Amino acid sequence: MATGAGVDEAAQYIAIGVVGTGLMGVGIATQAALHGYRTIVHDIDPARLASVMPKAEAVLDELIDAGRIDQAAKHAALARIETHGELDAVASAHFVIEAIPEVLELKHRLYATLTGLLADDAILASNTSSFPPDQLVTPLRAKERFVIAHFWNPPHMIPLVEVVPGSATTPEATQRTAALMSSIGMEPVVLAKAIPGFVGNRLQFAVLREALNIVRSGAATPEVIDTVMKASLGRRWGIVGPFEGADMGGLDTFVDIATHLMPQLAKDEDVLDLLRDKVAAGRVGVRSGAGFHEWDDARLERVRQGRKRVIGRG
Ligand code: NAD
Repeated sequence: MATGAGVDEAAQYIAIGVVGTGLMGVGIATQAALHGYRTIVHDIDPARLASVMPKAEAVLDELIDAGRIDQAAKHAALARIETHGELDAVASAHFVIEAIPEVLELKHRLYATLTGLLADDAILASNTSSFPPDQLVTPLRAKERFVIAHFWNPPHMIPLVEVVPGSATTPEATQRTAALMSSIGMEPVVLAKAIPGFVGNRLQFAVLREALNIVRSGAATPEVIDTVMKASLGRRWGIVGPFEGADMGGLDTFVDIATHLMPQLAKDEDVLDLLRDKVAAGRVGVRSGAGFHEWDDARLERVRQGRKRVIGRG
């Protein structure tokens, strides 16, 4: 069995700090530790901090179950994670990733403290989903070493990290961040500038808007639309992106189709009412057992099996 961790010898001399150990922080810390980095994690909530090791273990067990790593890699990774109740602990990190809640005031307050703590050449990255770097960076002295590193959930299954520099970020800090992301098994892309939703979420929500539009038109149910996506574009997009797909289909053909089709696609935001109605009815999705679908054991198990296949592929 492969260890799957691809541990770089030099990694053991480099420490990665992770601040905020919720859903994303644990996943990011586990990736860092698995790839050989001393990983220093901090959270203000002792209960969250206490749950880091069991949650990291669950991620590593999922990787073992999918055939990606062995027990030795798991134990080595766990041994590299240090949990600390004091923020000072991340002062020795060469690279710190912030993954606290998406509340600007909280992030600013944290950065105001971090700016006096971090080493002179340390990079601070934020996993923010929505704030532009120039808005986040204001309390920091070293604005040139701040960058966004936007992971997807869960990092051990979805390798993308969108690296987004601010106007003060040096190319060196951006490149160091991208290189570090590669070294922890991620697939970084560097954006030229920040735009709301970066790239991935814009694409996700453009598709969701059209999916809602089709439901609203009565032409297809959510069940049918999910099947269409899984049986067609879901497969194709795992191999080629939209531009490669268009090149392969022939751009002249795509012009013909788009000329007729694009004017028909949703451009309004009223489709959001379909989501709002579900939320108002208490159908928030998996968390409440129902959303557009009923989330019974069979559906959950099918997703678990699919997830295992994807994780197994690496
Ligand atoms: P979460 O609520 O699960 O976890 C946040 C953690 O931060 C909590 O454990 C909390 O105790 C801790 N925290 C709060 N204030 C703190 C402070 N001052 N110092 C240290 N710890 C603190 O949040 P999450 O879903 O992991 O999201 C974290 C960040 O990642 C957000 O910016 C979010 O937008 C972004 N993000 C989330 C997802 C996702 O799918 N959830 C995906 C990509 C990016």
